[in-house]
Amino acid sequence: MSKNVLDDGVVGRGNKDGAALFREWFQELHQVAENEGPSAYVFVMGSMAEILRVFDLPIVFPEITSLQMAVRRVAHEYLSDAEDYGYSPDICGYVKADVAMQLRNGEHPMGRIPKPTIGVYTNACNTYIKWAEIWERMYNIPIFTFDVPGTRAAGTQTWPGDLDFENDHRYVLAQTKELIALCEEITGLKFDIDKLREIMGHANRMSRGWKRVLELNQSRPSLFNALTDGTIYLGVANSFRGTEAGAKYFEDLVEEMEYKAANGIGTLTDEQYRLIFVGVPCYPIFRRFNEMFTNLNGTFINSTYLWFASGGTNLGFEYDLDRPLESLAEGILINVRDAMDSMFFQDRILIDMIDTYHADGVVYHPIKSCRTTSTGMADNRRALMAARDVPSLFIESDMMDRRVVSEAQLKNRIDAFFEGLATRKQQAVIAA
Ligand code: SF4
Repeated sequence: MSKNVLDDGVVGRGNKDGAALFREWFQELHQVAENEGPSAYVFVMGSMAEILRVFDLPIVFPEITSLQMAVRRVAHEYLSDAEDYGYSPDICGYVKADVAMQLRNGEHPMGRIPKPTIGVYTNACNTYIKWAEIWERMYNIPIFTFDVPGTRAAGTQTWPGDLDFENDHRYVLAQTKELIALCEEITGLKFDIDKLREIMGHANRMSRGWKRVLELNQSRPSLFNALTDGTIYLGVANSFRGTEAGAKYFEDLVEEMEYKAANGIGTLTDEQYRLIFVGVPCYPIFRRFNEMFTNLNGTFINSTYLWFASGGTNLGFEYDLDRPLESLAEGILINVRDAMDSMFFQDRILIDMIDTYHADGVVYHPIKSCRTTSTGMADNRRALMAARDVPSLFIESDMMDRRVVSEAQLKNRIDAFFEGLATRKQQAVIAA
């Protein structure tokens, strides 16, 4: 087969298919809302999709429905509604957008979103807990807190066989069984372990693929932009976790990335600066924000977002299907912990990324309305600068609220950062 024929079918397939799957997911949710069917509201860090799918519960990710409002440039309308209703301007923008959407009976730019039948969340972000309590009050529904013991300090993740891990595992396994019992109660369906095994098999294929896709971006030139393309992949990783469609999508994506690597097809025609992104993207000006970097031949090769917002799936953890429940609890513990560490102990991850992906710079993006990912970022940056001689940029805006996004100010800071990168490059050439 000639290169062009392959290019036609393979290159760009991940973005095209990802967008189609995403639309499909919203259409399904719209239908559920129209039919007043049940749904489970969950979060990206520990969605418990494997269990909820056993009970055929359509899954809503309010973080994703909210961010889509910003991408579609209507978030400010929802934020204003929520603030008029009494929510403070400085709390998480995702929460406010969701509350306003509930007040509008599920009205969303991509279709209607069904009301929740159950809310399931972990302790990965403290906002999750208060957010779910809003649904509990609004709809009088059960909410389930999944308490995942975090690591006690940087670099202290434990593994099966360790005494600490086995203690925490028992605790998580007990909660897994409690969630199953609650799902049986609200759906009236009996738990089916074979169905769980099948769903976990799909999740294994997806985890394998996601890890490989991330690794493949070590290529030079890099194969996908972690900020823009990566967010599409992330959307599929969350909303299609545990499905055949999601597993196939990631296998196809690996094929696409391997093809691009083999043929030297990068995201930029002239990749000069390989950057790492830290934090949550600037969704109100999503494309333009990225272009401020790509127009100067910089591209994002990895990000902490692709780690924590995939709920730790980046690790490529695979379940042991011979002991599904025990292995599911192990996976929840390992993955959710890793997601938390990717937010709180970023310097460790970034050092590793700088070394393995050969990064030229790190862009920190603390945002007004997500304290969970932004608090401690400045200290983390200091720790990183002490460990590696790599330039970094610290720019503040928001993931939802366009009122605090100053495009001109961002551009000035980014342009100055690139001048510094260019000077370093020249000096390196002279020194060589
Ligand atoms: S505070 Fe941050 S991590 Fe928590 S729900 Fe909001 S955006 Fe997500």
